[in-house]
Amino acid sequence: MANNPPHRVQLAGSGRSFAVEPGETVLAAARRAGLALPYSCLSGNCGSCKGRLVEGVVEYPFNPPEALSAAEREAGEALLCQAVPASDLTVAIREVEAVAGIPIRQLAVKLVAKRLLCADVVELELRPGRGEALRWLPGQYLDILLPEGKRRAFSIANRPGDGDVLHLHVRRVSGGGFTQYVFDELAVGKVLRIEAPLGTFVPREGGDRPILLVAGGTGFAPIKALVEHWLVQGSTRPMHLYWGVRHVADLYLDALCRRWVEEHPLIRYTPVLSEADPLERHHYRSGPVHEAVLKDFPGLERFDVYMSGPPPMIEAGRRSFVAAGLPADRLYYDSFDYAPDVLAALIRARRAADAKEEDS
Ligand SMILES: Cc1cc2nc3c(=O)[nH]c(=O)nc-3n(C[C@H](O)[C@H](O)[C@H](O)COP(=O)(O)OP(=O)(O)OC[C@H]3O[C@@H](n4cnc5c(N)ncnc54)[C@H](O)[C@@H]3O)c2cc1C
Repeated sequence: MANNPPHRVQLAGSGRSFAVEPGETVLAAARRAGLALPYSCLSGNCGSCKGRLVEGVVEYPFNPPEALSAAEREAGEALLCQAVPASDLTVAIREVEAVAGIPIRQLAVKLVAKRLLCADVVELELRPGRGEALRWLPGQYLDILLPEGKRRAFSIANRPGDGDVLHLHVRRVSGGGFTQYVFDELAVGKVLRIEAPLGTFVPREGGDRPILLVAGGTGFAPIKALVEHWLVQGSTRPMHLYWGVRHVADLYLDALCRRWVEEHPLIRYTPVLSEADPLERHHYRSGPVHEAVLKDFPGLERFDVYMSGPPPMIEAGRRSFVAAGLPADRLYYDSFDYAPDVLAALIRARRAADAKEEDS
């Protein structure tokens, strides 16, 4: 394998091209070449990095391309975070110019504050060392670097320019190694290593279309950074935020959202409770958050939509919003998948279980 020559990939839109080493994914090679293609989960699960193969063939030696339907694969779509070229390629995919010039760095940050926002969400305030200030765009995320090459992704919940600190909203995952450590042990003063800024869930400026923001749980974190960015910019685009959580107690920055509405006539806010009890149902919208959006706006042709949160919410939103007329290239999302090493283990376990079932 190591003796094979690299393949070349050309981007159909800009004509830019880059080499992909044997066994390397198209996305990894593009990032190495300093090109900014969209991505989020890096595990083949969320579909952010979907592109169309204009020419050439790819293979999937790592995770299977879970986010591609059989019809999409048949139509020549590929998931570039997992696709390894089997020939030279020409690929059609939108580039995210805004993030291209921002260096991705590894640096040490100190935990300077830790605040419980609700029963299972904690806010971490991280400060880079002196002279180490980070450049990022609102909506981007960082990876916390752990032993054995593991990493865990968290969105930056504040906008750049809001002091030198980085805010994270971390939800405790049951059985989750890192998030349980954050809740139970991580103390102020501890130094963590991060890689940042990452991701392409950033504001697409230009245009005056109204914006729908759809957050699920701690998916509120990057949405908060985007809203604060547009408010500071004095954007004149109407924004409607939908925040889906299970119960009212999970709306961990509800007061902030209500303040935005009071202070800015262009912002609307609709909390939606997916597991509302009868009393909650009396005061709040209930059900899946994407259904609330579609009930209010059955046709989405005139919107830009920004969505972040758990994978099932993203999947449901992706399919139903496009079916409701939203052009796919005006839907921007970050899917809060587990880390690639964990997803790979879960996929292996599922395949083993399937094989066992077939055998019996
Ligand atoms: C772009 C992006 C941005 C994100 N932003 C945020 C954010 O702002 N806030 C936030 O709260 N979350 C965010 N997430 C999600 C966050 O990264 C995960 O919740 C986090 O990685 C969980 O880490 P953990 O170590 O606690 O859990 P993990 O140890 O990764 O475990 C996750 C789950 O898998 C199970 N598991 C682990 N290993 C195995 C195995 N080998 N076999 C079977 N089961 C296993 C665990 O029991 C647990 O239930 C984001 C994710 C992405 C991709």
